[in-house]
Amino acid sequence: MIDCVHMCGIPRAVGRALCKQWPICLPVLAAFAILCLQHRERGLRLLIYYCAKCQRQNMRNVCDSCGKGLPGTAARYIWSDYRQPLADTVKLGALVRLPLMALALLITVMFVMEYIMTGAQAVTFLTNSGILPAMVQTFFSAVGVGLLILALQGKENVQYAMDPKGVLKRTWITPTRLNCLMRGIRYDKRAIQQNADGLPFLMAHEEYLVWQDARRYVLRPRAGRIKLYRPYAFVFMTLHIPREEYDGAAAMVAGKIKVKK
Ligand SMILES: [Zn+2]
Repeated sequence: MIDCVHMCGIPRAVGRALCKQWPICLPVLAAFAILCLQHRERGLRLLIYYCAKCQRQNMRNVCDSCGKGLPGTAARYIWSDYRQPLADTVKLGALVRLPLMALALLITVMFVMEYIMTGAQAVTFLTNSGILPAMVQTFFSAVGVGLLILALQGKENVQYAMDPKGVLKRTWITPTRLNCLMRGIRYDKRAIQQNADGLPFLMAHEEYLVWQDARRYVLRPRAGRIKLYRPYAFVFMTLHIPREEYDGAAAMVAGKIKVKK
């Protein structure tokens, strides 16, 4: 958590619960509390064999319907992942990086302008004008607000399907006006579907990557993640994979993406 002592000069006195920096502390504490109240579930991965002739999924590499043997190219991985956006380290990383980069850019521009106008005094402008503490506050405020937005986005269910052509990633949410607002999508009653349990679901996001377009992949077995890049330096898709099924999915990615050396 943020230690307000260094930012507003309040001594760490017992009982001093209220802090002058409440715009920073409140969102961070609220987001943390929401994270603590909710737990993470993970869905099951399924290796299935798809018979194109019968258009059905089979558990074995023989079609239950027509009895035909199904080759390796008929194999598909389907799994789903339930998580809180707050528990997504990829999103949290971006939340810290983006304001950091924006503020670093802003400081650089201000310093250069000050240097052009006042020359060597630009250094004292940086150290004495109070601009740096203000930037630190702005940074933590931005992170705090970002955490709160993630916390209010609600649990998401990401469904993955890997087949010989590519990988499809669909994010479903339980639609409420608040969840939609926090994701910047429209609350559209006509787009809301019902799942098998009769609960409302809304597809918030859809990504599709053709294997041919992927230039590179990075495996993170410990974190249960695979990153796919298109082009070389640009992350196009992050896959979250249940640990026990990681190896199978990683082998399929490795077999599909030809890394150009
Ligand atoms: Zn069949």
